[in-house]
Amino acid sequence: MKNITVLSGGMGGARFLQGLRHAVAAGTLPGVAADAEITVVANTADDLWMHGLKICPDLDTVMYTLGDGIDQERGWGRRDESWSVKDELAAYGVEPTWFGLGDRDIATHLVRTQMLDAGYPLSAVTGALCNRWRPGVRLLPMTDDRVETHVAIADPSAPSGRRVVHFQEYWVRLRAAVPAETVVVVGLEESTPAPGVLDAVTGADLVLLPPSNPVVSVGTILGVPGVRDALRATEAPVVGLSPIVGGTHVRGMAHQMLTSIGVEVSAGAVGLHYGSRAGDAGGVLDGWLVDEQDADQVAAVRAAGLACAAVPLMMTDLDATAAMAAAAVELVR
Ligand code: GDP
Ligand code: CA
Repeated sequence: MKNITVLSGGMGGARFLQGLRHAVAAGTLPGVAADAEITVVANTADDLWMHGLKICPDLDTVMYTLGDGIDQERGWGRRDESWSVKDELAAYGVEPTWFGLGDRDIATHLVRTQMLDAGYPLSAVTGALCNRWRPGVRLLPMTDDRVETHVAIADPSAPSGRRVVHFQEYWVRLRAAVPAETVVVVGLEESTPAPGVLDAVTGADLVLLPPSNPVVSVGTILGVPGVRDALRATEAPVVGLSPIVGGTHVRGMAHQMLTSIGVEVSAGAVGLHYGSRAGDAGGVLDGWLVDEQDADQVAAVRAAGLACAAVPLMMTDLDATAAMAAAAVELVR
């Protein structure tokens, strides 16, 4: 295998990619060439405009993580960050103040915004930013179009009894502490895949869905017109890894988003939600990995026509994560 394509969100996807890249380079993935190319199609529905800057949280998390510029502890943003601009903006009383906008990080957003203003599409801008970070993968946004996840929440003070906020406000400011009544991905249905995205899926030897958020990361990528069909059509096996372990998310607040789309918060249910490529229900997977803790769910996933195994899925370090990538390859060999 020479070409591996991964549909990624931010932190969960980026951590998995570290392990995958490590395993590929070490030659420890059965049947995968040590110089195999990894293409990452990243979610851009978390993107937002703030203080005149275009911010792409998931693209940046992948780029900084693989380019060794990430703050390891936070899992997002730049290492050795300072916050002078944020403090100064707050001193002016400029809203919003809840978004973590670090000084070093701002330089990335400035370069991106300038290039977008000059007419370059996001995919070209991402390529230019990666010239600095050398992530060791080909990083593509899912689309060059503006797509934004919005969340409706209950708000008794609003005339309609509800209020719609940008996903980042829901996630960062409200910490997903109130139920998401509906999730609307504005612009998704009218969007077009970025150059290279569909070819990366149809031309791959293996497609992986990392343990990213099934709703607001992988779910939005699958919603870009053409992507789901490409996954169903590709000759490459498609394998996913569960972000839900032991009935809950590992980091973050993924349970909230699953509940909002009516999917049970369990590893098996997420696999069934993605569905099997066999049959005509629109499923996208050939195989699904669940954590050892969820071994009792393997039978139900297999019954739906998927290859399934229970293996350790905690990305505690590079070796553990590389072993997850190896298990994904092994599952469909
Ligand atoms: P985000 O865009 O930064 O929210 O990141 P992703 O969508 O890529 O990934 C978020 C998901 O990663 C969450 O739902 C977590 O449950 C999952 N996750 C984080 N760490 C781990 C881990 O060690 N193992 C597994 N299986 N999932 C994880
Ligand atoms: Ca994200």
